[in-house]
Formats: sequence, C-alpha cells, structure tokens
Amino acid sequence: KQTLRIDKILGHLGYGSRADIKKMVKQGRIFHNGIVVKDSGLQSNPYNDVIEVDGEPVVYREFIYIMLHKPPGVISATEDSRDRTVLDLLPQNLRVFSPFPVGRLDKDTEGLLLLTNDGQLAHDLLSPRKHVPKTYEADVLGDVGEREVELFKQGVELDDGYVTLPASLKVLERLLQEDGSVLSRISLTISEGKFHQVKRMFQAVGSKVIYLKRVSMGPLALDESLSLGAFRELTESELDSLR
Ligand code: URA
Repeated sequence: KQTLRIDKILGHLGYGSRADIKKMVKQGRIFHNGIVVKDSGLQSNPYNDVIEVDGEPVVYREFIYIMLHKPPGVISATEDSRDRTVLDLLPQNLRVFSPFPVGRLDKDTEGLLLLTNDGQLAHDLLSPRKHVPKTYEADVLGDVGEREVELFKQGVELDDGYVTLPASLKVLERLLQEDGSVLSRISLTISEGKFHQVKRMFQAVGSKVIYLKRVSMGPLALDESLSLGAFRELTESELDSLR
C-alpha cells in the first residue's frame, strides 16, 4: 500500500487512538513534510514522507521481531483467562505492534521465544513442511545414553502412536544424585513440533523431563546475555538469517 491515513500510521506506532491523534492535530502538534497537519485523515506514505510529532521525527515500521528469554510460569499466548502471558512481559511501546508468539513453549519451559506481527514469517517458520530444527536443553531423570541416542535417531513412538522424525540427541552430562539415581543433562534437536514433544519423547523411552529450555530455532539462537524474562529486538543479521 502506498499511502495510509496519518492517524492510522501514528496509531500503529503507539501514539494513541484515532481520537487522541485528532486532538493532537487540533493542537497543531503534528507536521507532515514541514507543514502543520489540519486533518487527521491526511494520506501519507510513512516510508517517504516526514512526519513529526512535537518536533520529533517519527520512524515508521510495519513489523516487529522480538527475541524473548521466556521464563517459566508464563503462557505462550496473547491472552489467557488465568495466567500471565508472554505479552505481559513487553512494554506498551512494543505491545502496540500486536506481536504474537511464533509457536508455543509449555508454561514450565524456558528459553527462546520469537514474537512478531509478521504473519508470513511466522507461518514459514511453523510450516510442518519446512522442518525448521529446534534445539532444546533438558534435565532428564534417569541414565540417558547410547540406547536413547539410537532410538531418537530412528524415531520413537509417542503415547498417541505417532512416530517421531529422526532427532539428534547429545548427552552433555550425567550427574549422580544423593539417592544414587542419575540425572542426565542433554541436548536434543527435533525438526517438528508436536504437542509436548520433547517431554513425550523421553516418556516414550522411560525417562522424565524435569527441566526444559529451548536454545535455538532454525538459525536463531537464544542470546544468553538475556536474563529470564528479558527481551530484545532481533538484529538485522538475525532477521536476514530467518528470511
Ligand atoms: N517440547 C515440550 O515437551 N515442551 C515444550 O515446551 C517444547 C517442546
């Protein structure tokens, strides 16, 4: 689209409702290519025209791409009747773009979650045909070793009869617990995203996931400098790598 109403442009960027923008126009606070705006329905090309609010130039963009280090306890959805959602972690100036999570992590799962309002990119990343690899790190009760590596490479049958695609399992560490049992720290890369897939894959081989964190999705890796609940926008090169 070449042009948009100026109240629509400013609304998208979080400057306020249509009524708010109308008021700002009345107050003479908005300029378009150096000329004071008299009509909040003025058509503008937000990429080429210069819009100023209170003397500050407005930088327009349609899409937003946010990397969130999801903490446990929040829901990967835009709204929930009981619990806090990942959107509650974002400030208003990002929420105005109406981002949504690209795929889901369980409430108790941590790690990389991409949020965007770019429906096409989200669709491409989630398309089952694209087999975008996702890597998780997990703590698993029980001794995980070569047998599980081989089984996951072959595919395992989940509780609903579905047989998983080949997955790459690496055992990072085995920790002997005080009670004599073993806790295995693993890394698992899967190329699909069935409901509770990682947990159900370990269930299928007789183990139990007690901690789960996603560390990458396709070419996008979790920025480990983000603490739990922190977020940042993607860099240009991260965005390019996803396209
Ligand atoms: N697999 C799971 O079991 N849970 C998640 O949150 C993600 C992958």
